[in-house]
Amino acid sequence: MSNCPIKLPVVETFHSLQGEGIHGGRSAFFIRLGGCNVGCSWCDTKHSWPAAVHPDIDVNELAAAAAMAQQRGAGFAVITGGEPLHHNLQPLCQALDGAAPALPRHLETSGVDPLSGCFAWITLSPKRHQPPTTELLSRCHELKVVIHGAEDLAFAQTMAEAAQAAGNTPELLLQPGWQSSSGAEQALEFVRAQPAWRLSLQSHKWLGVR
Ligand code: SF4
Repeated sequence: MSNCPIKLPVVETFHSLQGEGIHGGRSAFFIRLGGCNVGCSWCDTKHSWPAAVHPDIDVNELAAAAAMAQQRGAGFAVITGGEPLHHNLQPLCQALDGAAPALPRHLETSGVDPLSGCFAWITLSPKRHQPPTTELLSRCHELKVVIHGAEDLAFAQTMAEAAQAAGNTPELLLQPGWQSSSGAEQALEFVRAQPAWRLSLQSHKWLGVR
């Protein structure tokens, strides 16, 4: 542990509702870490990409904020980004374990880096231009693929098969790209014909909240 960082670049922390995925609609405390070099053209958090412009915050301070949010009703903590696994998340998870041991930890990742830390729930949102590692495919609890067009549907199926080949059977979700009418149309059509999959909508954006 001596070489592990105890501070992480933080874009923001906030207590809201999880907007998407299987846990959508539930009270959650978000820790959005800075830094991402995955480079999705449609990314809605491009301000998170450069880690250096965001303040480094001690993991114990983050854990204390999560514990306070738990007292106010947060049912779990979401570590998101950016790409959180660009960082070693073990120190943050240890700090959360100490300050809020009963607060489940969720991770949202594109899966391009090795897994670090310990999580009750892992959302893998794989990207076509930088596919995830087999490790994350085998460890994720939900596979959530953003859909803009037909190539994304084919990629979603490939990822589900790859997870299965890795011995995993995650929940399968298609999420239309924000304001992508073709993505929405194709995702709806696909899910209607494929009962193993379900639609995920970014409800926080529809509601205009964080
Ligand atoms: S991985 Fe996530 S944060 Fe990084 S560019 Fe893609 S959508 Fe944005």
